[in-house]
Amino acid sequence: MATVEYRGIGKSFGAVQIMRDVSFSIGDHQFVVLLGPSGCGKTTLLRMTAGLESVSAGDLMIGGKRVNDMHPRERDIAMVFQNYALYPTMKVYENIAFSLEVAKLPPAEVKAKVERAAEILNLTPYLGRYPKELSGGQRQRVAMGRAMVREPSVFLFDEPLSNLDAKLRAHMRTEIRQLHNRLKTTTIYVTHDQIEAMTMADKVVVMRAGKIEQMGSPDEVYDTPSSKYVADFIGSSAINFMDGTVVAADGAAAVDTVNGRLLLPDSTTAKPGQKVVCGVRPTDVVVSADGPIRTTAILVERLGHDVQLCTLAAAGEFFAIVDRTLPFREGDEVRFDVPASKVHVFDAASERRL
Ligand code: ATP
Repeated sequence: MATVEYRGIGKSFGAVQIMRDVSFSIGDHQFVVLLGPSGCGKTTLLRMTAGLESVSAGDLMIGGKRVNDMHPRERDIAMVFQNYALYPTMKVYENIAFSLEVAKLPPAEVKAKVERAAEILNLTPYLGRYPKELSGGQRQRVAMGRAMVREPSVFLFDEPLSNLDAKLRAHMRTEIRQLHNRLKTTTIYVTHDQIEAMTMADKVVVMRAGKIEQMGSPDEVYDTPSSKYVADFIGSSAINFMDGTVVAADGAAAVDTVNGRLLLPDSTTAKPGQKVVCGVRPTDVVVSADGPIRTTAILVERLGHDVQLCTLAAAGEFFAIVDRTLPFREGDEVRFDVPASKVHVFDAASERRL
């Protein structure tokens, strides 16, 4: 078990600097997800942690030791890759046993460890098969078994589920999280899928262009996104943004937007006259006969449990998730209100939360 600490980490490829001053710590037993769009540097940070990529600046600490110049094998980590990286000519048993045999463990011990991993991962019936005779999910479990038997201090996962279909991905998500609950090994997991991040992480690290934008629990990054970027990235249905100017309304702060006046939460630091962007999640809007946001429904999408309304407001498209029993049709006039506590306010220039 181990803590992982990034102290002022920087990375350059030749003359191009892609990461600057990344600092955060991961506690023992924590499951941390590095989340961000393609190219933001999450895989590079993971590969630096594994020792597969050099560190250009700063100190990388694992278990309190500086590992910048340590060989991958000495770091006591195990990495699970997106493409599984199984040996095609070896059966499942041999794939899982390989690193233990290289380490020259006694055969009885190898057998006991492989069988225990196979049992935990429901792979016992497949130990005699070749990787090509397995489904994607089973292959991914073999890759996890191979990492598990090494009993590392830290697990590193690089988008391990991106080759699986949606249903299997949801299933493997639960399996990986249950495995973590059982083994409690410190885990760093890279993904660009915010649902994976929200469902699996103790802490989410949202990255942007080689920097940390916000680190927090899934609830923190969802409820109090530190910037417009985080608000936009987190949440399974895209947030609505509206430009506006802060005004004082009956002693409370409000924002006049093209879509009407929105009251702001008491906690906001926004000042009258300030140019801002308000963010409103589709799940937080309320259908209300005298609501300030006047729209026309242009698409009614039945999602099963509820309905997504794509509407046209003065400021453009506006999305709302509403009760499935409401009888809306395309062309209907619909008005929405937003509780003040659900309005996210960002400075228009810096895009930071106010
Ligand atoms: P993805 O989700 O697409 O894998 P990512 O967030 O993991 O993206 P990285 O793969 O870490 O991003 O890449 C970060 C940046 O570093 C990108 O701009 C990429 O082009 C650049 N980069 C990565 N590896 C190299 C390399 N070997 N040489 C030069 N530039 C690289």
